[in-house]
Amino acid sequence: MTPTARLVSSALHASAVQATTDWRRTHTCGDLRASHVGSTVTLNGWVAARRDHGGIYFVDLRDRYGITQVVLGTELADAVKLGPEFTISVRGKVIARDAANVNPDRPTGAVEVVADRLEILSRSKTPPFPIDGEEEVSLETRLKYRYLDLRRAGMRGNLVHRSRFIHAMRSAFLRQNFVEVETPILTKATPEGARDYLVPSRVHPGEFYALPQSPQIFKQILMVAGLDRYFQVARCFRDEDLRADRQPEFTQLDMEMSFVEEDDIFRTWEQVLHETFRDAMGVEVAIPFPRMSWLDAMERYGVDKPDVRFGLELRDAGAWAKTCEFGLFRDAIANGGRVKALVVPPSHELSRKDVEDGLTGIAKSAGAGGLAWWKAGKEGGVGPLARFCKGEAAAALMTAIGANEGDMCLFAAGARNTVWKVLGEIRNHLGKRFGLVKPGTWSFTWVTQFPMFEWDADSKRWFSAHHPFTAPVEWDLGGADVDASSPKLGDLFSRAYDLVMNGWELGSGSVRIHKSDVQQRIFTILGIGPEEQERKFGGLLEALSYGAPPHAGFAIGLDRLTALSMGLDNIRDMIAFPKTASATDLMCDAPSIVDPAQLAEVHIRTTLPAAKAPATAAPAAPPKQP
Ligand code: ASP
Repeated sequence: MTPTARLVSSALHASAVQATTDWRRTHTCGDLRASHVGSTVTLNGWVAARRDHGGIYFVDLRDRYGITQVVLGTELADAVKLGPEFTISVRGKVIARDAANVNPDRPTGAVEVVADRLEILSRSKTPPFPIDGEEEVSLETRLKYRYLDLRRAGMRGNLVHRSRFIHAMRSAFLRQNFVEVETPILTKATPEGARDYLVPSRVHPGEFYALPQSPQIFKQILMVAGLDRYFQVARCFRDEDLRADRQPEFTQLDMEMSFVEEDDIFRTWEQVLHETFRDAMGVEVAIPFPRMSWLDAMERYGVDKPDVRFGLELRDAGAWAKTCEFGLFRDAIANGGRVKALVVPPSHELSRKDVEDGLTGIAKSAGAGGLAWWKAGKEGGVGPLARFCKGEAAAALMTAIGANEGDMCLFAAGARNTVWKVLGEIRNHLGKRFGLVKPGTWSFTWVTQFPMFEWDADSKRWFSAHHPFTAPVEWDLGGADVDASSPKLGDLFSRAYDLVMNGWELGSGSVRIHKSDVQQRIFTILGIGPEEQERKFGGLLEALSYGAPPHAGFAIGLDRLTALSMGLDNIRDMIAFPKTASATDLMCDAPSIVDPAQLAEVHIRTTLPAAKAPATAAPAAPPKQP
């Protein structure tokens, strides 16, 4: 008899499938080691796998901490008829496995528990997908049965990581003397550029709260209050059309500081992120982070969130283009636009077909008419641009854009925004295609001095590029004669900054306007007249007139940061209960229609088509007094 079989047979005499007086675990399913051999333990968990080895029955018992192998004699096993994902309690003796059966891949792999008592705590329907294993499960199924999805090791690991990461970040802020303050969820609109989620008021018919797009106004008011260093793990709500990396509600690490400039915010965050990565992950992130102005980012990388882990920077061909023989290039410069190039060395091979089919498609969808290309050569090179590169022009162009013989040069010409977008997208595409990025590197960059305003041609008005509380670089906004009709507004820079990591925008912030008159002037430029200013922002404007300190702040998207820190692209895998791309919660079936009586209470009548309208219910009972 093997030791296991001997123990099973003796244990069976004492076995009983019964409700035990104390079914609670003495150890978790990840605890047991060789040092526990000989002790009697009780484990609780889920049946992960069952194997029948003729007379002896093995169960892999799983909980959050790991998996332990449990051995049952046939009688015990038959009596209980375990199914997958049953929740059980098992008592038994820990024994050492035979050397041949040790499982080195499992921390508990040196031992097993020979059960003498087993209790089913709860049965399970057959799960719609296996909990252990790597199978692809459709997103819909995962979200509908999120509790089962979260039972899987990967998702469980993500949530544990998230918790550890946020804990480390919170501690880092507290070490720097920040105060954690909770701001309201039922509040008034705070513009961050999205639509608001509205909540009707029962007590004030026809009036609504807005869920915060960010705690912006409250955190500025906390500075007026003298709190000086505030932070919060803040839930924000933005009703936007969703993309794979967006959620209607998301979490930010939001902060604000008084008596500071950009520099202080950058240093604070560098320290916090350094400590967070170190404490949560054992990763040493290099600080300080490089800084780059928005204009520099656009000119060099074509995007405001550059992935600086690889080169392939945009080269300026403007000086050459100005006097070249190609009319389209000359016109672009004459009209105040750009002619820029990407220079791809022969080690990254691009065929004519790659350029004319693939890359030209990207260029066109980014707004260009096409993509001019030239295989550089002192004798004129090859490609559509070759006929404009006769004689000395070829060598001059090569010098201008730093190209060598045989490099593939890709050109975009026209308005600067289009040129940036076209080459920025192609650069990112080539970075991926040629594997230019070393995985596992965290490369942070501050991007500073964004434009202050953006012109919207449809509504014919200016919008804040960040939000309307962002300070301009020049407090006088370029002079008293600058008003909403001044085209000069498009050239003004703001004191907004973003933190970018590996080509992702992690967060943004700004130095704020702490002067009431400047804030009013900005509102006016944005088309918000005095009455609307008072109605929407009266509280803030009033607060700013009671000795507001100069202040600045920043907020980082925690869903994205924690996802990226695990090498995940999709923030959904870092959120316990995320919404689908159409903003629904498949598990709880939200949003959903509500009883007419409930609507009546909040003074709302919907205009739903009959098919979707809820049946008229009997009048609701008056609410119970607590
Ligand atoms: N409200 C943030 C800030 O400027 C930005 C954001 O929420 O995206 O601090």
